[in-house]
This record gives sequence, C-alpha cells and structure tokens, in this order.
Amino acid sequence: MAETASPSDNNKLAGKVAIITGGASGIGEATARLFAEHGALTVVIADIQDELGHQVATSIGHHRCSYMHCDVTDEEQVKSLVEWTVKSFGRLDIMFSNAGILGSSDQTILNLDLSGYDRLFAINARGMATCVKHAARVMVERRLRGSIVCTASVAASNGGRSRTDYHMSKHAVLGLVRSASMQLGVHGIRVNCVSPYGLVTPLTLHAHKKGAEELENIYETNMSLKGAALTAKHVADAVLFLACNDSEMVTGHDLLVDGGYRIQ
Ligand code: NAD
Repeated sequence: MAETASPSDNNKLAGKVAIITGGASGIGEATARLFAEHGALTVVIADIQDELGHQVATSIGHHRCSYMHCDVTDEEQVKSLVEWTVKSFGRLDIMFSNAGILGSSDQTILNLDLSGYDRLFAINARGMATCVKHAARVMVERRLRGSIVCTASVAASNGGRSRTDYHMSKHAVLGLVRSASMQLGVHGIRVNCVSPYGLVTPLTLHAHKKGAEELENIYETNMSLKGAALTAKHVADAVLFLACNDSEMVTGHDLLVDGGYRIQ
C-alpha cells in the first residue's frame, strides 16, 4: 500500500528560526524558500546583494522572511546579525552558513595570486567559522539544541587542476564542521555540511561563462546518475534534512549531493 504523507511531512521546521548566509541567490535562496514552505517561524536571509536579498524576502513574504545586510568577512556584522535575529524572534535554531565564492580559475599552485587567495579564504573559510562561532555561542547561552549546517563541496575532499584556493577553503570547512561538532555535542548542538557537485547558479554561470543548458550537460556527463540535472532544490532538500529533527542523531557528517560524482 502506498504511504500517505502526514501533515508533518510538510511542516518540518514549525516554529523554528533560521539564518541563511548567501541567501539572496542560488542554493541559499532555494533553501530559504524551502524552509519557509516547511513552516519556519522566520528565515533571515543575510547577504551583501541587498536589492536581490530584499526581493527574495518580499517574494517569500515578510511574515516568514526578512533580509539583513551581512558581509561574513566582518565579525561585527555577523555578531549583529545573530543578535538582531535573537532579539527580534526570541531564538535561533538553525544557522545555514552557505555564503561562498569561487574565485579565479587561474589559481594553480604555480600562479597562486595570494591576494585572491586571502579574499577567498576570508569568505569561504574565515567567514564560515565566524558564522558557526556566533550561532553556536547564542545557542549555548540560551540552551538551544540547534542545528548548524555549512556548505562545503565535492572540492572539500578532491584536489583540483586549478582553483587551488577554492579546494583548500572547502577542505577547511570539513575541518571546521568536524571540530565544531565534537566541541558542541555536549550542548546538544549538531554541526554538519552539505557537499554539492556542480550545479547551475549565478556563481557557476558567471565563472564558466557558458549557458545554463551547456553547463548542466557538462555536469551531467560527470555524474553517475543520468537523466536529471542537479539543482539548488536538491541541495536545499539535503540542508532541510540536516536542519530538522529527521537527522536528530546526525552530527559531524558531510552529506554529498553529487549524483554519484565522487564515488566513480
Ligand atoms: P551564488 O553566487 O548563487 O550564491 C552565493 C551567495 O553568497 C550570493 O548571493 C553572494 O552575494 C553571497 N556572498 C558572497 N560573498 C559574501 C559575503 N562576503 N558575505 C555574505 N554573502 C556573500 O552561488 P551558489 O552556487 O548558490 O553558492 C552557495 C555555496 O555553495 C557556496 O559556498 C559555494 O561554494 C557552494 N557550492 C556551489 C556549487 C555550485 O556548483 N553552484 C557546488 C558546490 C558548492
């Protein structure tokens, strides 16, 4: 007999308060929409693209979603983001630390431009740690058994022919997630990450200067699952799993969302 969906299947985040960094676009935006659909009390989108962020919050609806400017490279801004969220909504249950950049494609070790490396690390590694730090502090302080999810990548466990700094920064995310999960477990706080393979978002469209369809075809060629393109919604589904109680005993985990790319 086919299983019927219970109402709670569509309400996995009822009453929860979430922050999503990099929520104005791509994976962050798709996750903000999914969290709101699943009954989150509020989703705070944090980004540096203010116009886009406001548009996304408006389209989700201001009763469920707010936008706040936050550059994750600035610790004071991250601290204020977390403080404002807790002050406005009374709690913080979920931090999805997702903001990231790809950087230059010329970053082979022989040509490594260290100012580009520093900028990328400031966002992808240091910014990620700053968001985890301030979310965790407030969860510990308020005795909240929260869930922290970071966006890593298949690049977190692979080497690259170029983008050395990007691969290094995503390896750092794994170290952050594993260490933070060990340190925060005593407080009942879970820390996990999602690792997508390539998908079409403004990040990859801009970096590869190809059309969406062409890029999707290239990615599909490299995945073992055929006949479907990896989308931001697929990644958002994995984030939802890690954010909600379905993954109550999962921590320190790197959840690949890669259509079988890495296993080959
Ligand atoms: P995207 O460019 O659509 O979204 C990233 C968002 O992060 C943007 O809205 C951007 O404004 C924001 N951002 C950048 N710098 C910021 C800063 N300093 N402070 C706050 N926000 C900032 O890209 P996406 O593909 O959705 O990427 C999201 C995450 O997914 C990134 O961490 C990326 O490394 C990771 N990822 C993407 C892919 C892919 O193929 N698209 C694959 C694996 C991992």
